[in-house]
Amino acid sequence: MPIQILPARLANQIAAGEVVERPASVVKELVENSLDAGATRIDIDIDKGGSRTIRIRDNGCGIPKDELSLALSRHATSKIATLDDLEAILSLGFRGEALASISSVSRLTLTSRTVAQEEAWSAYAEGRDMEVQLKPAAHPVGTTLEVLDLFFNTPARRKFLRTEKTEFGHIDELLKRIALSRMDVSFNLRHNGKMIRQYRAATTQIQKERRLAAICGGPFLDHALAVELEHGGFKLTGWICTPQGARSQNDIQYCYVNGRMMKDKLINHAIRQAYETSLAPDQYAAYVLFIEVDPHQVDVNVHPAKHEVRFHQARLVHDFICQGLQSALIEGAGEAANFQVP
Ligand code: ADP
Ligand code: MG
Repeated sequence: MPIQILPARLANQIAAGEVVERPASVVKELVENSLDAGATRIDIDIDKGGSRTIRIRDNGCGIPKDELSLALSRHATSKIATLDDLEAILSLGFRGEALASISSVSRLTLTSRTVAQEEAWSAYAEGRDMEVQLKPAAHPVGTTLEVLDLFFNTPARRKFLRTEKTEFGHIDELLKRIALSRMDVSFNLRHNGKMIRQYRAATTQIQKERRLAAICGGPFLDHALAVELEHGGFKLTGWICTPQGARSQNDIQYCYVNGRMMKDKLINHAIRQAYETSLAPDQYAAYVLFIEVDPHQVDVNVHPAKHEVRFHQARLVHDFICQGLQSALIEGAGEAANFQVP
């Protein structure tokens, strides 16, 4: 076969292989876009575990009519323009791939309206070259992404979808992770028309703890110490359980770097080490922790789904987390002891 440039849809489908694993990955990309757009309210409607419908509606800034077609194209983003921007990144997105990828493996409609526009417009990509069609629509300021029949044209992928219940479970868990990191935003999650989760925007400490308890459970809150530490340009905030609140599973381990959810070995190791010998080998720490560092100090472009980061000063980050939590746990133990004295 001679060398040829792949048609747009096929190239996008190949790219989709990296980030669009299942309905929950679609929800992640779309909700992150809504957050990047400054939304304060995000409604998520799912049918049949996401294999039939994923609809995400936000009240963010919207997309101007003349940029709708670009939004569906690969390598098109409003979030960075130069390498310097990437190195200073604070938005969740920057690859400009999600909408193009998702629309190549589903029937995706993008409807949006900006404040400057009187009317909304819908965009839909068709054919092997993914030509974008525009139509007028009714929509308040903000954006709705509707993703129907995920993987209808990639049967090998569709085959890997699990039951409706399992796929919805992944979406529910994902939304918990996001809702913990953005307490200031309201989220509503429906499945097959039924309201499943309502996280109302929380600003006061009491409201935040209410959301924390709704997501992590009352027992976590009972054993949680609030953490707020700062040292050498690193900031660590959130909640960590005392050894008494340790769990038999690693089901409450939420960690974020500059607002991005992470599964990071270095951070996990640092947290585990902070407990020293107070956790038995079959016990797991429970925590919700937010690490903030100068974006120049981390590389977020190491994983397509951005689950991992690389810290330039990995050792320093490790020791900051470990020592900071160690002293928080010691102080917390003191407080708990004082509390018991009548
Ligand atoms: P990225 O998030 O990496 O920029 P995406 O493919 O996810 O790439 O989105 C492409 C562009 O479409 C974004 O840069 C943004 O300008 C626009 N966009 C996508 N979703 C929304 C949304 N919900 N509200 C406003 N703009 C959006
Ligand atoms: Mg994005």
